[in-house]
Amino acid sequence: MKLTDKIELLPRLGQTTAKRLHYLGLETVEDLIWYFPFRYEDFSQIRLISDVHDGDMVTIHGQVEIIASRRSRRQRRVLVEAIINDHSGQLKVVWFNQPYIAKTLKAGEYVYFSGKVEVNNYGTQLLNPDYEKENQYRENVHTARIVPVYSLTAGLTEKQLRYFISQTIPLIKTIQENLPLEIISGAKLMSLADALLNIHFPRDFAALKQAKNRLSFQEIFVVQYLIKKAKAELAGNTSIAMKFLEKPTKEFVERLPFKLTNDQKKAAWEIIQGVGQSKPMNRLLEGDVGSGKTIVVALSMLNVARNGYLSVMMAPTEILARQHYQNFVKLYAKERLTVALLTRGGKEINGEKVTAKKLQTAIDHQDIQIIVGTQALIQDKIKFKDLGLVVIDEQHRFGVKQRKTLIDKEQNLMPHFLSMTATPIPRSLALALYGDLELSLIKELPKNRRPIISRLVEEINRDKAYQFTREQINSGRQAFVICPLIDASDNLGVKSVSEVFDRLSKHVFPDLKVQMLHGKMKADDKNQIMQDFYAKNFDILVSTSVIEVGIDVPNATIMMIEGADRFGLAQLHQFRGRVGRGEHQSYCLVFTDNTGVKTVQRLNFFVATKDGFALAEKDLQLRGSGDLYGTKQSGLPDLKLADLTDINLIKKAQDAAELFLSKYVIDDFPSLKTVVDRQEITLHFE
Ligand code: ADP
Ligand code: MG
Repeated sequence: MKLTDKIELLPRLGQTTAKRLHYLGLETVEDLIWYFPFRYEDFSQIRLISDVHDGDMVTIHGQVEIIASRRSRRQRRVLVEAIINDHSGQLKVVWFNQPYIAKTLKAGEYVYFSGKVEVNNYGTQLLNPDYEKENQYRENVHTARIVPVYSLTAGLTEKQLRYFISQTIPLIKTIQENLPLEIISGAKLMSLADALLNIHFPRDFAALKQAKNRLSFQEIFVVQYLIKKAKAELAGNTSIAMKFLEKPTKEFVERLPFKLTNDQKKAAWEIIQGVGQSKPMNRLLEGDVGSGKTIVVALSMLNVARNGYLSVMMAPTEILARQHYQNFVKLYAKERLTVALLTRGGKEINGEKVTAKKLQTAIDHQDIQIIVGTQALIQDKIKFKDLGLVVIDEQHRFGVKQRKTLIDKEQNLMPHFLSMTATPIPRSLALALYGDLELSLIKELPKNRRPIISRLVEEINRDKAYQFTREQINSGRQAFVICPLIDASDNLGVKSVSEVFDRLSKHVFPDLKVQMLHGKMKADDKNQIMQDFYAKNFDILVSTSVIEVGIDVPNATIMMIEGADRFGLAQLHQFRGRVGRGEHQSYCLVFTDNTGVKTVQRLNFFVATKDGFALAEKDLQLRGSGDLYGTKQSGLPDLKLADLTDINLIKKAQDAAELFLSKYVIDDFPSLKTVVDRQEITLHFE
């Protein structure tokens, strides 16, 4: 087996399973090895049967005395029942709906069982435990150890995934160190092979901690390496110093239907000064959802246009690109600026569909001042001319390499660079990760905003929430419903878009117009649905997190979030920011099946807190890892493990990256190079 082998080559991995793994982004054996658990179950202590109590999570090592399956009369499901025995006593084991177990396990065999003990009317039982036959030739994978728990997709089980990953153990053991030894020993790190082994199948908790530390270090190291390298490459370049043109800027601002907030003015001024220098600007514009970043950018683009240069704005999704485009066409109509759209879905100039050829000619003749698009801006053959400013909305969706591709298209000069994000990244963190990237903050919201009323809705009040939604819709408003996954997966009880859509459209609101939207739909279909929603052609949009960033539908006043415990606080805040964008009072209604104390506390904190920065800080404390902004829309580089509150670790990794760049060449470290490239490709697009 090799790292580059397709997962299909693994034993017992058929077509169907392969498809499911592909859905998780796993194509090669190496992908599988780098797919880390999100938590662990501690089944390392083996308990005697005589010593188990109600509610305990235990591992029992015992012999099967009898095992048989039967159909339960009332619920018509298949039960497998067994009696097991260690030398301390006997215990009943029950599995639901897994009839094959009666054939897999045989009387007389010695087996490990890990699961939950329940004492009820039927006596003391071990319910649905994981099991694993005793095998002297290999280590346990599913039981009697610290067991990894992975994120799954519909139709895939923990046991399967764990099994496949365990098949790669011999290969993991041969993985060579990817960082210079000087760095490994300097930072007192575990070896890479050991770290990968222990992240999946920890020897003990101390080893797990070291493994996480090693891999976190590497994640931050890679990000720092990319940033420092990009910076070094940028350093020698010059840009056009854009003159600040006061009169047209003032006139533009006066024509706006609202007054700019002080923070908006300050940010706009910082950007105008930034592009006013011959040193390429590299600035992050950070502002909570609805804080009005777009208009600040529009002001900068106006100046660039008046200087005779082109601005290009890249958005993470087709929907968002279109929305910006339409907004700009209107906004700049009086300025007589021409705006173009460039996405996979199509090319347009000021509202008219055009061919690639026509668009290129227009660019070449400097007939266009602003181009908005998706990553098609990079992939398409269109060449830019006199590119003065590159703006990236929701910057975390794009890697350093992608930025460079955009820049390289213009051969004559280096454009200024501005990225925007609504993800509140605490300042210290932004500095630690992005170094001395210039930062503009918009903290205050426009005055006309009414605070959104947020509520955690208990299941018994669900109907009331629907009733309330109906009233809102009857008075002309619209509603969003967000769900965590697309397919009905699972035992996790995750509400899926299609399930919720069915229930709402058929049973709850059969008289209202309900639509659904998810990332697997075609770009055109997604656009159409968003356009229709915007045009009030329907009332309720049931969606996955694809609508998380940027969408502006001022008439929507209700945001319902299903399975809210599955999202980070900062991410929930992003969803909430989809409403409260117009003049009407808006509401965010949060639902969860998980009534654990911690979950409820966390969600109550969300409901009570309006400040996105406070939520991000809390998230950082509570979840303390890279996926804190949600896996896809991570506001930061794609870090799986790195604890970003660990400033010490960040500092160490920064120093190491510095050292590496000064002494080593990445081509001499092929496996590190793979990881570096991986950090790029794991940036997700819809
Ligand atoms: P975001 O920062 O989330 O990208 P947008 O730029 O989309 O926010 O702005 C949200 C809405 O607020 C838009 O409809 C915009 O026209 C409006 N807006 C922006 N600035 C102001 C302001 N100073 N006063 C009132 N409304 C504003
Ligand atoms: Mg925006």
